[in-house]
Amino acid sequence: MNHLGIEVSVKNIPELDPGFIPLAQFNRAFLAGADKPLDVAVERSNGQVAVWHVKVHSDPAFAAADEYYVERVIKTMLWMYGGFRVYLAGSQELADRMFITRQAVSRWERGETLPSSDLLKKLSEVFQVSINTLLGSPRQLICQSCGMPLTDDVMGHDADGGINQDYCKWCYDGGAYVQDCTVEEMIDFCTNIMVKEQGAAPEKVRPYLQDFLPKLARWKKA
Ligand SMILES: [Zn+2]
Repeated sequence: MNHLGIEVSVKNIPELDPGFIPLAQFNRAFLAGADKPLDVAVERSNGQVAVWHVKVHSDPAFAAADEYYVERVIKTMLWMYGGFRVYLAGSQELADRMFITRQAVSRWERGETLPSSDLLKKLSEVFQVSINTLLGSPRQLICQSCGMPLTDDVMGHDADGGINQDYCKWCYDGGAYVQDCTVEEMIDFCTNIMVKEQGAAPEKVRPYLQDFLPKLARWKKA
């Protein structure tokens, strides 16, 4: 089977998922022809940096395979170490594909700038985590429609599949509001949920929501 220009031998192809390629098989086939060193580093919030030394092809013919492989490496490292800043050193061509310029990387390494918003948007899409999380969660995000705290698993999605940074998935998904409603209807709806599911007292919850929800971006009068 050929995947992104890499010939991978897959002995038992799963009936339900004929395109499935075991990652270890892909890695073995990929690395057999890879000889250009690339260092991938992720920085953690306590200042520690984890570095993996890997090899890539760095050849235009294998650009897609390189990008796929490096994305998997970065994703694995973010899972393992929970880092929030990613550095690549070694391949200008690959860095270009990941929307990073040499100047940006070195300024970034000197701590003068944060990764560009384009790169953050791309990383957010690839890894399905919010930009807020990629930056080390500097803010507690709340849904700008219903007010619930936003964690990566409950965030809504834009039309292009990227994570929307402003709304939860129950309020906003696929680039549009899930329900067309007024702020009063949303206050009713949230009051009911907090009373039913959290046992809150309606006479306490309703005035709180009546004060709080109209200040959120969806409801704020222009
Ligand atoms: Zn919401």
